[in-house]
Amino acid sequence: KQPVLQYLKLFLLLGLGGVTAMHVPKQDVSASLGALSLDGHFRFHDLSSAAQDFGNLSCFLPVAVLHPGSVADIATTVRHVFMMGEHSTLTVAARGHGHSLYGQSQAAGGIVIRMESLQSDSMKVHPGVSPYVDASGGELWINVLNETLKYGLAPKSWTDYLHLTIGGTLSNAGVSGQTFRHGPQISNVKELEIVTGRGDVVTCSPQQNSNLFHAALGGLGQFGIITRARIALEPAPQMVRWIRVLYLDFASFTEDQEMLISAQKTFDYIEGFVIINKTGILNNWRSSFNPQDAVRASQFKTDKKVLFCLEMTKNFNPEEADIMEQEVNALLSQLRYTPASLFHTDVTYMEFLDRVHSSELKLRAKGLWEVPHPWLNLIIPRSTIHKFATEVFEKILKDNNNGPILIYPVNKSRWDNRTSVVIPDGEVFYLVGFLPSALGPYSIEHTLNLNRKIIEFCNEASIGVKQYLPNYTTEAEWKAHYGARWDTFQQRKNTYDPLAILAPGQGIFQKAS
Ligand code: FAD
Repeated sequence: KQPVLQYLKLFLLLGLGGVTAMHVPKQDVSASLGALSLDGHFRFHDLSSAAQDFGNLSCFLPVAVLHPGSVADIATTVRHVFMMGEHSTLTVAARGHGHSLYGQSQAAGGIVIRMESLQSDSMKVHPGVSPYVDASGGELWINVLNETLKYGLAPKSWTDYLHLTIGGTLSNAGVSGQTFRHGPQISNVKELEIVTGRGDVVTCSPQQNSNLFHAALGGLGQFGIITRARIALEPAPQMVRWIRVLYLDFASFTEDQEMLISAQKTFDYIEGFVIINKTGILNNWRSSFNPQDAVRASQFKTDKKVLFCLEMTKNFNPEEADIMEQEVNALLSQLRYTPASLFHTDVTYMEFLDRVHSSELKLRAKGLWEVPHPWLNLIIPRSTIHKFATEVFEKILKDNNNGPILIYPVNKSRWDNRTSVVIPDGEVFYLVGFLPSALGPYSIEHTLNLNRKIIEFCNEASIGVKQYLPNYTTEAEWKAHYGARWDTFQQRKNTYDPLAILAPGQGIFQKAS
């Protein structure tokens, strides 16, 4: 795949050719959309920001951007496109925070709905025995956290970065270091309101319209636009003990990770990083952390090319700091990390959860945030993780790949197999994220080539890999991704979005025309 060239060509065709994907003049589309009675409004000019995303590798210009003033605006727009039927190739993409990687929230020649316009003061926290918050699908998780903390509550399951929308992460899964315990974010949703591809507004939950509820969770935006979500909450701690330790060998690292995720009494968050040739994270990983033993830490040296960093947290309130210390020490005493490499820091819960945003601000200041990000996220069964690690970390990635490499196990029992998300076989599987920035010697082509080599190896060695935030271009690849679940996925599509209007940027279905 040569994405940059392909995308540039398409961009030129759609943007400069003066026609939309409908092959009808833009002004006719604008006129028919402009005539809709809405609380919000359409924009037909200066649309380039809707043709950008975090990946910075794709650029598909839409014909219009809807800034919805209400859920009814979204329903009216989708119904309008649905009623145009197969005479039009007009599609509709919900855009959350546009933090997709390969154009998934874009709509070539179609309509982009700016979901953040729906953020409103309607976010409502319901304290009580089983607390929850009702929030708009376009709400950023950071806003949800800020609001729920006012009640001493917070969602249970997170992503590493909070400047993403509810609808955007629930369309994938939403994973982080709490997933082993609480499942992904999609396992912590009680109810959704959805505008289907027919323009119907449907409330759904495990009890009501459950097929749509499960379809939409991890559904890559294929079955409807999530306009509201009811998210489970728990009491929020005030503080977090944040710990990092290093391992010189993969076997001890993963055995300890797996022991921790299966233990009854354990940490609240468990992730891990791979450090290759001591670049990147090794230089930074402990910059804001304190060594447990400063003398030993300063003497820590290794010739190892590949190191593994285990990252954990324990939540606590200041008055329970002693208990937290005891519990942490008891857990650490069971681990086999290099003793000199034990570092920790205590931060507020908010500081911990919003940690990536601090890095974002630093990178933005240096002009290093809005660069191409050819990321690759994989889900690997526990049974093949060692084979994968030996080949990929020791051989394919001979050098640092200019970004963090995350690796941590999760328990399958916390995932609901009725949702649309695809996970591999086995009780435990690993989330592995290669998160490079394409800069300087790490060109886009260089990085995409490494990604290709990793995927080729996985296929040849029958690793049983699945992509997370999947990016495929052919129907055969999508069918292989969904495997035995493809038929269900397709049936759900036929039921809820029969004309394939929604989320065209995923490239799974072609609008019928
Ligand atoms: P968008 O990119 O705007 O949209 C993503 C897809 O969802 C598109 O197909 C879009 O059409 C669809 N969509 C958007 N809103 C809705 C809606 N309301 N209803 C239906 N469909 C909708 N993911 C994790 O799981 N864990 C992480 O720790 C994590 N960290 C990240 C860190 C960074 C810096 C970045 C850039 C991404 C990270 N991600 C992570 C990936 C992220 O979860 C996805 O890229 C997510 O889709 C981004 O959310 P968004 O609001 O920007 O969605």
